[in-house]
Amino acid sequence: MSDTNPESIADRIHTIRSNIPANVKLVAVSKYTTTQAIRAAYDAGVRDFGESRVQDSKVKQEELADLTDITWHMIGSLQSNKARQAIAQFDWIHSIDRFSLAEQCERHIADLGKSPKLLLQVKLANDPNKFGWSESELLADLPRLEKLQNLNIVGLMTILPLGLDESQAYEVFSRVGVLAEKLRSLGWADICELSMGMSADYAIAARAGATLIRVGSQIFAS
Ligand SMILES: *Cc1c(COP(=O)(O)O)cnc(C)c1O
Repeated sequence: MSDTNPESIADRIHTIRSNIPANVKLVAVSKYTTTQAIRAAYDAGVRDFGESRVQDSKVKQEELADLTDITWHMIGSLQSNKARQAIAQFDWIHSIDRFSLAEQCERHIADLGKSPKLLLQVKLANDPNKFGWSESELLADLPRLEKLQNLNIVGLMTILPLGLDESQAYEVFSRVGVLAEKLRSLGWADICELSMGMSADYAIAARAGATLIRVGSQIFAS
């Protein structure tokens, strides 16, 4: 059931905030909601919004252009032919999930003179349906990623497979933090952000070290 009453949205945001430390950034995932509901979340103090489709979000961003201090996050999987538009439109891209996409971004960043913060999407639990690097794949790709000097890679992102219990979820989230630490020790000093946790598991993710959580249905009930 959809409840996009502004007071309900504000209440649910306050509940989420009370479940996470103050330094964890709440990204309100607005991909299925209206610009009206986004304004309600904005009025409740949210400044970070996540979208999963480049074209849909362009329309919303234009309608919300008066809210100049919104930070827009691209969180959905990105086709290479949309990379240019994503670089142009977003402040963060969480879903850099393969080397070929990173390479595309490198080119467009140089062209556009705009360098959003990028997160590398990893999958550390077996999940054939999800995009992203496994740990060994990412370690193998590091040398060629390192050559893409325009990329502003600031962290890792993950989406859990369905069906994990709480302790399994915590364990997988924790491993993302350990991998980030390993990358820092290998010279990737900027890999500090961890984007993990959605409506069902954001509190677990925050306990496991998330610096950004991505919550949609729990806020917008849509
Ligand atoms: C849709 C989406 C979310 C939000 O999911 P909810 O369960 O609605 O909170 C978070 N991350 C990604 C990558 C998504 O596509």
